[in-house]
Amino acid sequence: MQVIRLEALSDNYIFLLYDAEQNIAAVVDPAEAEPVLKQLTQLNAVLVAIFNTHHHGDHVGGNQQLIQKFPQLTVYGGAEDRGRIPGQQVFLQQGDRIQFSSRTAEVIFVPGHTRAHIAYYFPPENLGETGELFCGDTLFAGGCGRLFEGTPTQMVDSLSKIRALPDNTRVWCAHEYTLSNLKFALTVDGDNADLQRRYDEVTVARNHQEATIPSLLGVEKRTNPFLRWEQKALQLAVKSSDPVQTFARIRGMKDKF
Ligand code: ZN
Ligand code: FE
Repeated sequence: MQVIRLEALSDNYIFLLYDAEQNIAAVVDPAEAEPVLKQLTQLNAVLVAIFNTHHHGDHVGGNQQLIQKFPQLTVYGGAEDRGRIPGQQVFLQQGDRIQFSSRTAEVIFVPGHTRAHIAYYFPPENLGETGELFCGDTLFAGGCGRLFEGTPTQMVDSLSKIRALPDNTRVWCAHEYTLSNLKFALTVDGDNADLQRRYDEVTVARNHQEATIPSLLGVEKRTNPFLRWEQKALQLAVKSSDPVQTFARIRGMKDKF
């Protein structure tokens, strides 16, 4: 399974999962249909599935048009999103398993950004290979999604599930927000040498218009303040010794950054 990153709208990424042998593809969060259709034409591939992480327009905007083009495809989304995702046919819960090509994804329920948000995790096929995590707007490179329909407690619980995955997991998040996220991260975790180094690397990459997605989960664990609510430095920065309150305060500061 190959993952092809497509750009959409102003700062969204759409991910096309492609099986060259069977000539089939699935798409994660089609913000719009056009870039997906263009890529499918180039590959001459058939779209068999849409995997939606949540109901926001910049994640499901292409559903209707893709269904029209490929009426046989299956639309997957979270069980709690019933009625909010165009064309949804499969209603997924924590622990459900779904198949694409030779791979099986595990569904992780990650409420917080929305109350129904799910992530799709493909464990590595062979030892030493990367797993693939499609986490929508829950975890970003260097950041996390805003809490529109969830509480800090829920988001910490959701991010804890993600944090429990192996370091060697590629994080395919839905937006190119990395540079501004890291800029903020430095304001609460400025002494973190890994973070400083990452900020410099990402600055160079963005100056060359390079994408910073996917990132590696191991890097997120070391540099993303929204996975580091237990770290003393961050607790000191927001004057709390409580992990959830630490997370909530960092999230609140980022909202106003
Ligand atoms: Zn969203
Ligand atoms: Fe989004």
